[in-house]
Amino acid sequence: MKTNLSYDLLIIGGGLSACVFASRYLQNNITKKIALIEVGRGLGGRSSTRISKRFKGWKLNHGAPNFNISNNKDNLLLKNYIDQLLVNRFIRIDDSELIFLGDDTKLETIKKSEFYCGDRYISLFSMSELSQKIIELNNFQDKIDFFFETLIFDLKFKNDEWTLTSTKGYKFKSKFIICSTNLLLHKRSLKIFNLNQIPLRKAIPKNQDKKIDLLLDYLDRQSFIPRLTFLIYTNENYSYRDFYSKKYRYFHLKKSLEDKYKFERVVFQLQDNKKLGIVVHTKNLDFINSYINAKDEDLFNQKIFTNFNKLFEGNSLVNQLSCNEGISIMKWRASQPSGCSVPLSLQFSKKYRIGFCGDWFEGEGFARIEGSIFSALKLEEKLKIHSNIFLSI
Ligand SMILES: Cc1cc2nc3c(=O)[nH]c(=O)nc-3n(C[C@H](O)[C@H](O)[C@H](O)COP(=O)(O)OP(=O)(O)OC[C@H]3O[C@@H](n4cnc5c(N)ncnc54)[C@H](O)[C@@H]3O)c2cc1C
Repeated sequence: MKTNLSYDLLIIGGGLSACVFASRYLQNNITKKIALIEVGRGLGGRSSTRISKRFKGWKLNHGAPNFNISNNKDNLLLKNYIDQLLVNRFIRIDDSELIFLGDDTKLETIKKSEFYCGDRYISLFSMSELSQKIIELNNFQDKIDFFFETLIFDLKFKNDEWTLTSTKGYKFKSKFIICSTNLLLHKRSLKIFNLNQIPLRKAIPKNQDKKIDLLLDYLDRQSFIPRLTFLIYTNENYSYRDFYSKKYRYFHLKKSLEDKYKFERVVFQLQDNKKLGIVVHTKNLDFINSYINAKDEDLFNQKIFTNFNKLFEGNSLVNQLSCNEGISIMKWRASQPSGCSVPLSLQFSKKYRIGFCGDWFEGEGFARIEGSIFSALKLEEKLKIHSNIFLSI
């Protein structure tokens, strides 16, 4: 097996921001050879889809189920890109029902919330397939080699060249890299990889590049929201109480109700096989910890069914669950960044030939898909301006 692999460009991560960046980059650089390295089994990252081996035929979006674009400043770069996704029929306006559950469990329409302001969109496919379609749009010459289930844990910059080391023993080499995740830049990497220095800091020592120093300072002040998503594969005949045929239906819990039932939102996802999947999101820390410390997972799952049934007791739309439906869990250690966002001016270091994108950058889309798409578009634009460095590679 060849373990030293050289490319024109290396992209770490395969979430939406990486896919948008790669797609745009390919549009203008059709001769470049790229490697996209992703620790997961496929594309999509935090907006991906669980394809279960146990529950065949189901596709449940276990991260972001949809996305919203506020674009209050009417940024044309973002607007045109969303229009392009619409024209290509990758996404469409999300006209699914949004229901806000208040104290008295009365039905109310959501007026404003982080995930529901602006225009809402859904993928015409699963969320993972959306990332795939975005890349395929411009990868018609197969210029990208995909490395899945490949975790980068070490970065080196020597003689103007980057070397990335992965758990599979590969060493990826390139003069230019894009980092779409901030895991290798953030102090949480120390515990995860059992290191004593943040990988990017190790590669670029302090005082070598003001931008990198600032970027790491900002990130030092960024924290993350953990989440759990419970994926419920309902039994054969489970359905709504009313007639509703749209793909999604969202129930969002008001804070007091969230505290009581520990659920943040409940997303119904109609499957191609006509079965009804349910994804329950929670960010309640006590609840997450009680899951982590639970000795018996089955017993914990019963708690999900019990809370669900109590929450929807007497609800005119939702039927009770039977407590023996299939369930699987997705644990998100860092579902969304929170607190300090990173200025977009720090997205690119000319000296070190490294660019960054993702939802961790500043702007109204911070911590959401809107931000991850926008940062990728911005980065690609910046690289075009610096194409003299790029073209010399
Ligand atoms: C449960 C949940 C619900 C959400 N709901 C919404 C919503 O309703 N609306 C909304 O707008 N946003 C929502 N979000 C946030 C949204 O999913 C993210 O903002 C967006 O997907 C981020 O995309 P990204 O490309 O910036 O990052 P990511 O998707 O995180 O992509 C980074 C990729 O890098 C990979 N990676 C990391 N480190 C390494 C490494 N060392 N080596 C190799 N690969 C690596 C990761 O596996 C990941 O695939 C939600 C997130 C979660 C988890």
